[in-house]
Amino acid sequence: MNGVEPVRAFIGLGSNLDDPILQLTQACTELASLPECRALRCSSLYHSAPMGPQDQPSFINAVATLDTTLVPLALLDALQAIELRHHRVRDGERWGPRTLDLDLLLYGDEVIDEARLTVPHPGLIEREFVLHPLAEIAPDLRIPGYATVRELAAACPMRGLRRLTPDQLS
Ligand code: AMP
Repeated sequence: MNGVEPVRAFIGLGSNLDDPILQLTQACTELASLPECRALRCSSLYHSAPMGPQDQPSFINAVATLDTTLVPLALLDALQAIELRHHRVRDGERWGPRTLDLDLLLYGDEVIDEARLTVPHPGLIEREFVLHPLAEIAPDLRIPGYATVRELAAACPMRGLRRLTPDQLS
């Protein structure tokens, strides 16, 4: 990384098409090799029910963290480039099936409200498939404007979310 002080960012990952476990495993590797980024940790993989339309496969989710000197929009560009490499097709269906979804959940303690980017990610504080993986890797993290991840996760029902066991990964 360059001489700029790195910022700790958290990325939400999700997939429910074309071998979701492989999609997420590969995406974590790709995050680790992004320029100006140093990957730190990826949570366990979790199995979750789809949001919105129920006539689609269930999701695999995880949260990863990295230190980066990329500015927020450059990091979003990098995440969207990874999504495209995973043949993500944006067909406009909200909460529809997807090979790979990468959300910029947090960028340090910055609050961003721009046309292309809202941080903290608006779904972060209420989505079990984000809060519980995040609590696994950063329970003491304080979400700007809210509470700690541990507190938010404790108040968030699991709604069928379950952590994949090692035999489910092979
Ligand atoms: P989605 O279909 O859920 O992947 O939404 C992608 C759109 O959300 C893109 O047009 C992004 O510019 C926008 N967006 C806004 N805030 C965020 C964020 N924090 N992380 C990822 N995408 C975001």
